[in-house]
Amino acid sequence: MQRPYNFSAGPAAMPVEVLQQAAADMLDWHGSGMSVMEMSHRGKEFMSIIETAEADLRELLAVPPNFRILFMQGGGLAENAIVPLNLSRGGVVDFVVTGSWSQKSFREARKFCDPHLAASNEADAHTSLPTPGSWQLSQDAQYVHLCSNETIHGVELHELPDLKALGSNAPLVIDFSSHVASRTVDWRRVGLAFGGAQKNLGPAGVTLVVVREDLLGHALSICPSAFDYKTVADNGSMYNTPPTYSIYMAGLTFQWLKRQTEGDLRGIAAMEHRNRAKAELLYGFIDQSSFYVNKVAPACRSRMNVPFFLRDESRNEAFLTGARAAGLLQLKGHKSVGGMRASLYNAMPLEGVQALVAYMRDFEQTQA
Ligand SMILES: *Cc1c(COP(=O)(O)O)cnc(C)c1O
Repeated sequence: MQRPYNFSAGPAAMPVEVLQQAAADMLDWHGSGMSVMEMSHRGKEFMSIIETAEADLRELLAVPPNFRILFMQGGGLAENAIVPLNLSRGGVVDFVVTGSWSQKSFREARKFCDPHLAASNEADAHTSLPTPGSWQLSQDAQYVHLCSNETIHGVELHELPDLKALGSNAPLVIDFSSHVASRTVDWRRVGLAFGGAQKNLGPAGVTLVVVREDLLGHALSICPSAFDYKTVADNGSMYNTPPTYSIYMAGLTFQWLKRQTEGDLRGIAAMEHRNRAKAELLYGFIDQSSFYVNKVAPACRSRMNVPFFLRDESRNEAFLTGARAAGLLQLKGHKSVGGMRASLYNAMPLEGVQALVAYMRDFEQTQA
C-alpha cells in the first residue's frame, strides 16, 4: 500500500508491514481469542511477546550479557529524573549540553544531584559539537550525560567518546531516543542508554533502558519503587503493568528490522547503510542549492533529523502546503528552531527522500 511519506520527528512513521501485522492481529492474536491489549501481562501469551522482543532487541543492538534491557514508562523526559535518582548518589554529574534535549536533562538533574556543565555548544546556537578533548570533566563525577542525537537541532555524535581516554572513570549515559536502532552502538563506551520508543522503535508509551548490571542497586532512598532500575530489572520489567501494546508494537518493529538487508548487510548494519545513503542524498541536495540551507557543521549533522531553511522564509507556508499536496507530511520545523525538519528514521525508505528532493527541486524552480 502506498501512503504519503511522513517526515514527523515523533511520534513518527512506522513500517507499513508492522502496521499491517498489527491490524491482522488486532482482534485475535495467534489464535488466543484476545487482542494483545486485552491480555494479562503475566499470562503465557504476553510473556512470550515481551521475551521475544527483548531477545530480538539484544540480538539487533548486540547488547552484551552484562547489560540489562528494561521496558519502562515515562518517556525520555522522565528518564531525566530517573537516571539521577538511580545513578547520581546525590553527587556530581557531568553534562555535555549540545541542544534542547541535553539542556532539559541538565536542568532536571538539579533536583537530585549536583550537575556540572562540562561542555556546551550554546555559543554557536547548537550547530556544532564540542570536541571531547575540550570537555571539562570532573574527577568525582558519578556519570557523564550526553544526548547522542539532538532531535531538534539535528546534531549527532558519530563516535561515542572513550571517557577513560579522557581521564574519567565515570560511566557514560546517553539519551539515544532519536537514533536508537539507526546504527550500531559501541557498548564498551556506555554505562546506560535510554530512549523513548516513538521516534525509531514503535509507538509512544514504552521507554527503553539498557543498563550495565553494576549500575543497578544504587538508587537514592527517595526514588519511586517503580523507577528503581534494580526493582524493574529484578521483576523483568513487570514490577508494575508495563505498556503492553507498545511493547508488542516495538517487538513487531524488531522483527521487521531483523528482516532488513542491504547487500550482505543485515539488521542494524543494513539500516545504518540505508540511513547514511538517505542522509547523504538530502544534505547533498541542500548543500548544492542556493535556495535551501542547513546550518549544522557537516561533521556532526544528524542522519535522522535534518533541519533546513528556505533562505526566503516568506515562502515557508507555500512550501509546506505544496509538500502536503505532494504527499510529503509533517515537514514543519520545531517551533524553537523554525524552518523545516525532515526526520529520516528507519521506516523512511530511500524513495521517500528521493520524493522529498524532487519536490524541493520543483519548488525551487517554480519560485525562481
Ligand atoms: C523526543 C525526545 C525526548 C523526549 O521524549 P518523551 O517521550 O516526550 O519524554 C527526549 N530526548 C530526545 C533526544 C528526544 O528526541
